[in-house]
Amino acid sequence: MRPDIMDFPSLLLPAQSELQLESLTFDPASDHITLHLVSTQTTAQCPVCRHPTQRVHSHYQRTLKDLPWANCQITLHLHLQKFFCVNAACHRQIFVERLPDLTVPWARRTNRLATQLSQIGLALGGSAGARLCHKLGYSVCRNTVLNAIPPFTPLPEPPPPKTVGVDDFAFKKSLSYGTIIVDIDRHRPIALLEDEHADTLADWLKQHPDIETLARDRSNTYRQGMNQGAPQAIQVADRFHLLQNLANPLQAVFLDNSNEIMLMKPPEPPDPPEPPGQADSSDSPPEPVSPPNPAPSSTHKRQARFQKVWELRRKGCTILQIAEQMGIGEKTVRRLLQQEEFSDRQRRSDRGQIRRLKPFLGQLQELWDAGIHEARPLFRKLQQLGYPGSQTPPAKPVA
Ligand SMILES: [Zn+2]
Repeated sequence: MRPDIMDFPSLLLPAQSELQLESLTFDPASDHITLHLVSTQTTAQCPVCRHPTQRVHSHYQRTLKDLPWANCQITLHLHLQKFFCVNAACHRQIFVERLPDLTVPWARRTNRLATQLSQIGLALGGSAGARLCHKLGYSVCRNTVLNAIPPFTPLPEPPPPKTVGVDDFAFKKSLSYGTIIVDIDRHRPIALLEDEHADTLADWLKQHPDIETLARDRSNTYRQGMNQGAPQAIQVADRFHLLQNLANPLQAVFLDNSNEIMLMKPPEPPDPPEPPGQADSSDSPPEPVSPPNPAPSSTHKRQARFQKVWELRRKGCTILQIAEQMGIGEKTVRRLLQQEEFSDRQRRSDRGQIRRLKPFLGQLQELWDAGIHEARPLFRKLQQLGYPGSQTPPAKPVA
């Protein structure tokens, strides 16, 4: 059966079996269509006791926003009914008829408009979703877009990761470590593994066969895990460790040669260009240009401080006077006065720990010869022998 052309607007309505189109008005100034609809339901069900009834109590009007038609905004003006509940045992006496295919109680928009706003909100978020809605003909703010998302809606599944980075993290430093896996394309952590073992990483990688590139540090454990779990993927060193590997030897080279570097003269600056028109007017030589003063390096600062401390000491100042005059701690003054010559060697933070380890070097060698090559068992054995320090210094000879 071919529909009549006059029935066309009715075909665009939601809940066609429960509503009848009475009339429509069009406002050309705002491209706004208002549809006047009446409910065709003769029987309604009480929302409390589910008892059907046909006793009409009264009528009321309700306004809903609906999806746009072409570029026109649509408003539904509904003429609905209130019914009596005829069940004497029910505490609800009067209720409004429900139109579950059209909307939910108290809502101010149709179900299909709410669904579309929810999908836009899930895909774009509030602000970007509201901007798209304005382009599509809805006048909604970002909060409306977000509120349209039903609570506890599961987020859409992200695409399978292609490029991931793997590194360890400490649950408790020096004692227990886990593994963090980051989706590098999305800049998001996607998994935390309970330990840093190769098998655990391999098991996770086997569940993600789409991975093409793996970034890692130089750990053999992770290399083994990746070889087992994702042999198809390319393994690359991550940016942090590449830069660290570059920076460490450079720092060592510059520190070892700092005296020679300080003696190097800066290159002569090029002659300034002569101002136009004055090239032949004067034979006087140009004013010498002094090179810009380079910023004092930290080595220079430390050397100047060392010399100043000794200068004040030779003048007869006490340690307290030197400290107050230079704005440094008495401990620092005392340390500098213990040195006869300036030394640019930076203090190692674990120097004290290494000093504590020295009396145990013999036992450490015996344990090593006995076949104990792992840092943690070595540390435990030394602890039993009375070693008071942390795990780091015993780990260094082992590493
Ligand atoms: Zn009832």
